[in-house]
Amino acid sequence: MLAASRLGARRIAAVAVLCATARAMATNSTAVTGAADAVDWKALPEEEWRRRLTPAQFDILRRKGTERPWTSEFNKHKSAGVYTCAGCGTPLFLSDHKFESGCGWPSFFLPADKAAVEEHKDLSLFMVRTEVTCKKCGGHLGHVFDDGPRDKTGLRYCINGVSLGFSEGGGAGAK
Ligand SMILES: [Zn+2]
Repeated sequence: MLAASRLGARRIAAVAVLCATARAMATNSTAVTGAADAVDWKALPEEEWRRRLTPAQFDILRRKGTERPWTSEFNKHKSAGVYTCAGCGTPLFLSDHKFESGCGWPSFFLPADKAAVEEHKDLSLFMVRTEVTCKKCGGHLGHVFDDGPRDKTGLRYCINGVSLGFSEGGGAGAK
């Protein structure tokens, strides 16, 4: 009897999760809001990513492409605010941590929250590099190098501007 009621409760919980996910997907076709957290980003199929992203965003975030240097509007972008993942909207970098690296891509010496990004060894192109991805959706962001500003972290997060969005104000200087 106990086992049966537990099973029933579990089934109700599962249905509730499904409904929440469906609602989030229905209301968040373009804008990413808090409700989008119900989306299982890592399980999103390729065709859904193609629908949500521009071809350039898809190439970089989902195919690990690299934008041509000096092409991002964010290179010389100086506004105060938060740089978000263009895939899932997660806050990734803060304008407070941005610096002019001269490399042609938006550069930061620190992520907004270390838990928001993941680092992976990348042996492509006959180099040993450290790839940086968005932890929530797995989107490729760029690479991190150890030639950043010595008076800060010494790190340079070299990020494709195409894989970023920007939100003015709102939390710059937060963690
Ligand atoms: Zn993401």
